[in-house]
Amino acid sequence: EETMLKPFIADLMQEFEIEFDWHGADFNYNDGIPENATAKLDVKRFIQVFNNIVDNAVKYGCKDKLMLYVSACVLGGSFVLTIRDNGPGVPEEKLVHVFERFYRVDGERTKDLGSTGLGLAIAKELVEAHGGTITVVNAPEGGLEFTITIPLSGGGENT
Ligand code: ATP
Ligand code: MG
Repeated sequence: EETMLKPFIADLMQEFEIEFDWHGADFNYNDGIPENATAKLDVKRFIQVFNNIVDNAVKYGCKDKLMLYVSACVLGGSFVLTIRDNGPGVPEEKLVHVFERFYRVDGERTKDLGSTGLGLAIAKELVEAHGGTITVVNAPEGGLEFTITIPLSGGGENT
């Protein structure tokens, strides 16, 4: 449905802050969304995308003190959400595979966590169903960084 992005993301961050806290994670949210920006979101599914990424950060991110940096803005007619952790990241040559079904970076290391390797494949499908894109890089600061881009309603006239 047509969603006012600023309050929606603010609410989502507030909800997740409790969960982050529960996992002992420190959380930093940088909101650069203009007041009037809207996008057609399947809210439940969008939350699932965010949840799958955060779930990974908790599982594979920093074992010491997990940090999560979330930043939201509007750029070139799209809503852009980036989510970065301070974990070990993923070796460059394996990074291109993380959105594949059942792909897990290190089978031995991760086999006992009760995971199937579907979280990011599902996230990609859900983002693309919104007409958007999802990409991942090893951040220069360290850690894995996801960028989700969703087209704004009205081709960006409301930016
Ligand atoms: P599932 O999500 O089905 O429980 P999964 O977490 O193993 O299983 P994905 O979420 O698709 O599967 O992630 C694929 C792989 O990418 C993971 O197994 C892990 O090796 C790697 N990965 C994902 N997120 C991170 C992260 N934040 N830091 C380091 N590695 C990650
Ligand atoms: Mg996962």
